[in-house]
Amino acid sequence: MENRKCNKCDSNKIIDKVNITDVGHYNEKHNLSIQIQTTNRVLFNRSVKSSLLATVCCNCRNVELSIDNPNELWDAYIQKQKNNQL
Ligand SMILES: [Zn+2]
Repeated sequence: MENRKCNKCDSNKIIDKVNITDVGHYNEKHNLSIQIQTTNRVLFNRSVKSSLLATVCCNCRNVELSIDNPNELWDAYIQKQKNNQL
């Protein structure tokens, strides 16, 4: 396991890369994500989704966000730019 340290306070009381969960009606849970739509259709558009993960410092309360598949998301973003130029 990598020994992570907080970027703000240097503490190692770090909870690394946990899902951020929204709890809705009837206790329905959804993990937060970032989505990039890659097609420009009226219906049935495709998108690439990446989980939003939190790294939490339990010393200074700092929270940093990251994603789980940066390369896939970047490719989708480039695809979207191309589609918008058509
Ligand atoms: Zn900290």
